[in-house]
Amino acid sequence: MRTTDTLAEYHRRRDFSRTSEPEGGRTGPSGDRPSFVVQIHDATAMHFDFRLEADGVLKSWAVPKGPSRDPHDKRLAMPTEDHPLEYRDFEGVIGEGEYGAGTVIVWDEGTYRNLSTDRAGHELPFTEALERGHASFHLYGRKLHGGYSLTRFRDDRAGEREAWLLVKHADGSASADSTPDPARARSVRTGHTLKQTAEEAGAGSER
Ligand code: MN
Repeated sequence: MRTTDTLAEYHRRRDFSRTSEPEGGRTGPSGDRPSFVVQIHDATAMHFDFRLEADGVLKSWAVPKGPSRDPHDKRLAMPTEDHPLEYRDFEGVIGEGEYGAGTVIVWDEGTYRNLSTDRAGHELPFTEALERGHASFHLYGRKLHGGYSLTRFRDDRAGEREAWLLVKHADGSASADSTPDPARARSVRTGHTLKQTAEEAGAGSER
């Protein structure tokens, strides 16, 4: 992940005359603590999009199985392009033929606190921790709570796609609960499922 990314890649992939996704443009942090959002995206392959505010954008990973509350679960997290901060508000349907076509709901949202340290135990700025390939943070969400780490285990040299693992810390908020079935999961904003969200958008039947 290049943490110096702008939103160029995000803009290159989308036609904003055709998608209802935000074009972005707001800069700077939105509150006292940086925000996070987890969306469920019923695209070609169902996945969770895990996004953390840093450097004025949402650093993003696609997590096929979604975040787990169980510290034993190591969840594959594939980095995706930086998204604008406004994307944390996006729910709805990305139309057929558009990049990422499918329904999106906001599954969880909140703020986080950076827990990242260097080997000597000194606090590391979050973006520097990401650049180094290991970032720890405490989530204050509606569904997700407590410590998590993102660790890069494969970089994009040798022609392979960069890949990370998202793992829950063994703290007081850990549990053996697995992530809910995305088809039955509900938006933290509306209480609606993916299917209901698609129907409200006039998309008719579930993709
Ligand atoms: Mn996605």
